[in-house]
Amino acid sequence: MFNKRIRIKDLLASDKANYEATVMGWVRTFRNNQFIALNDGSTNNNVQIVATLGQFDEALLKRLTTGACIKATGEVIPSLGKGQKVELKATTIEILGDSDAETFPMQPKKHSLEFLRENAHLRFRTNTFGSVFRVRHALAFAIHKFFNDKGFLYLHTPIITASDAEGAGEMFKVTALPLDGTAAKNEDGSVNYTADFFGRSTNLTVSGQLEGELAATAFSDIYTFGPTFRAENSNTTRHLAEFWMIEPEVAFNDLEDNMNLAEAFIKYVIKYAMDNNKEDLEFLAQRLEEEEKQKPQIERSEMGLLEKLNFVVDNDFERLTYTEAIEILKESNHNKKKKFQYLIEGWGTDLQSEHERYLVEKHFKKPVILTDYPKEIKSFYMRQNDDGKTVAAMDILAPGIGEIVGGSQREERMDKLTQRMEEMHIPAEELWWYLETRKFGTCPHAGFGLGFERLVQFVTGMGNIRDVIPFPRYPKSAEF
Ligand code: ATP
Ligand code: MN
Repeated sequence: MFNKRIRIKDLLASDKANYEATVMGWVRTFRNNQFIALNDGSTNNNVQIVATLGQFDEALLKRLTTGACIKATGEVIPSLGKGQKVELKATTIEILGDSDAETFPMQPKKHSLEFLRENAHLRFRTNTFGSVFRVRHALAFAIHKFFNDKGFLYLHTPIITASDAEGAGEMFKVTALPLDGTAAKNEDGSVNYTADFFGRSTNLTVSGQLEGELAATAFSDIYTFGPTFRAENSNTTRHLAEFWMIEPEVAFNDLEDNMNLAEAFIKYVIKYAMDNNKEDLEFLAQRLEEEEKQKPQIERSEMGLLEKLNFVVDNDFERLTYTEAIEILKESNHNKKKKFQYLIEGWGTDLQSEHERYLVEKHFKKPVILTDYPKEIKSFYMRQNDDGKTVAAMDILAPGIGEIVGGSQREERMDKLTQRMEEMHIPAEELWWYLETRKFGTCPHAGFGLGFERLVQFVTGMGNIRDVIPFPRYPKSAEF
């Protein structure tokens, strides 16, 4: 058996000394020809390995370069240096993989996030990305734990779908047809998809919601957690072409139940990360503080990362209707002094992210849940309110991120649903299976979608969504 190592995190966590141990990992630095800082990704803290002068071959010492992979065995001893309780006094050091010091891109110095994005295959080996992806892992685990503990069923919805009716975003086409122009055509010159793999036109999913509703009307409480795809050409710090979404769907929930669930959920997973990833979050908080120092005073956030997370966990989200939000925005000095790029003139238009940020960051200074939007700017499946103008929708807006959750109570009344689909030119025959839930034992139900990367962004304080997913997909980028 080769792998008899102790994880560096576990080794450093204990005061225990004077025992033999083996560690394996990647060299971060090698100083004074005797001190190796070794990292294995279990923590940002490196273990110090002492290669006592004169005990090791010159040839071996030369190969202890940044990035090299080694196995070291020796005695764990109390450390004299500050910053660590123990270190490893090596008796044997084995090079598992050399790393050419001249060409290894991850030098032990500060690299820009842009540079690291171009080296996404190696950026895991930096402290920043070590912390980000350990926090991402913890959040993913916490999400499953939250729903599992509540008795929800984890549903895997399809990644390839035939319905393109939902209109959540532009779709990527999936086809096995040749793209050289030889694919069979219809009389009007369009591609004949009956000859395609599935016998019809298919796409990558933009959301698992419709399928989630089918399962909720049998299991009562379900959630999905999977990849979704949008071919939207939005080059923003909050949009990816491939992102992960969590979509709970709950029978017998109304809009208020839905808001309560979403708020409790967000608070739970943030708290989980704070309890389980303290070191990483402290590191990221420090990183953010240094980044903020580069910004002009007015753009700096008032709270540090940990303060912000604590604040979100400890305080109620502000709940108000779209109509109330429009009033606040219209009457704001910002609007009157024409500081918005899109001025708020009246009721009915969609809010731009500048408006969402104003509400969250300037007016309420806390997460906000907006409800009851005009039906014209929301999807066909949202439950129509009695006023005939609004639907039982909710968006959760978070400081620095904007929309983090979009959800609604669903329209469970068949006549109202089909009438709305007609008005919005959504072909009922394509969604016959969806409509059957309303035909056979329909029930009040509600759900929401939370963009996982936006949550990771919020918790880690990373400014760009491309830095919280291992291999980001965005326009003109799918290198790794
Ligand atoms: P936005 O207005 O920010 O584009 P949306 O209204 O298109 O969002 P929904 O269709 O409601 O978003 O999707 C649910 C959630 O998925 C959003 O609240 C957001 O957290 C996340 N999300 C949506 N689009 C993207 C994207 N392109 N990249 C990453 N996350 C996204
Ligand atoms: Mn969008």
